[in-house]
Amino acid sequence: MINSYLIILGYNSSLPIYNHHPTSQILYMRENYFLIDCGEGTQSQLIKTKIKINKINNIFISHLHGDHYYGLIGILSTYQLLRRKNILTIYSPKGLKEIIKVHLKWSSTKICYPLKFVILSSRKKEKIFENKNVKIYTIPLEHKIYTNGFLFKEKKKLKNLNIDNVKKIKEININDYINIKKGNNFVKKDGTIIPNKFLTFKSQKPLSYAFCSDTKYSPKIIKFLKNVDLLYHESTYLQKFKKLAYNRGHSTAIDAANIAKLSKVKKLILGHFSNRFPYIKLFEYEAKTTFKNSIIPKTLKPYKI
Ligand SMILES: [Zn+2]
Repeated sequence: MINSYLIILGYNSSLPIYNHHPTSQILYMRENYFLIDCGEGTQSQLIKTKIKINKINNIFISHLHGDHYYGLIGILSTYQLLRRKNILTIYSPKGLKEIIKVHLKWSSTKICYPLKFVILSSRKKEKIFENKNVKIYTIPLEHKIYTNGFLFKEKKKLKNLNIDNVKKIKEININDYINIKKGNNFVKKDGTIIPNKFLTFKSQKPLSYAFCSDTKYSPKIIKFLKNVDLLYHESTYLQKFKKLAYNRGHSTAIDAANIAKLSKVKKLILGHFSNRFPYIKLFEYEAKTTFKNSIIPKTLKPYKI
């Protein structure tokens, strides 16, 4: 099984600059490809990853500032050209459906695949997705307009059988495997209990990823981020612009590092850097003074969760 990983397609803030792209990420988690935000140029970045865009069935849009969704109409049109069949679900704040409708209307495009919108409006954390492997929750953020982050959590994995030991117990047959994989002991006909730990190997701990899009410093989110394996948190400004950051609904690198530290996450990726700071390594230097395992990302590089 491939381990979960994150690819950052773009991490720039709103003003375009050469060779940088606005926010967009692709998360592979246990057989699912999730697209998170969709700034301009997302499609061309996706092509470079060699991930087939038809594998994406769920798109999560944090908020309706253009640098987080202007690439979406392009992707929806490409799906049309590819004669997509699968249902595509877009999770976003109110308004996006109308925006897309207008685009499609005035280009006389009739979408040939099922397109579903899940409108997010709650100011509280809510579960918005669940399948056999993954659960996804919103993370309410504090920005200039209604904004959500997203928390992606793997579900508990089944244990692997210690097949050598399983075969030592003659009474166990193939129909018992699923129960053993779920962590149950095996009870023989004479009542003898064979402990599960004899029959299985320890399963890998479920992993988690949190995406915190545009937000001012918001300690309220710490409780949602406890112990996540990987956190992306915006850091538009350096510390000397702390006040400006807060007033504009954004964070500094130290703010992001504080959130990471207080949430006890394992690793922090910074992003959404303002163009007024051409040397972005400074964001990493500042963040590391508070939370050591902080990095600025490289686009298109897979980061293991
Ligand atoms: Zn924004």
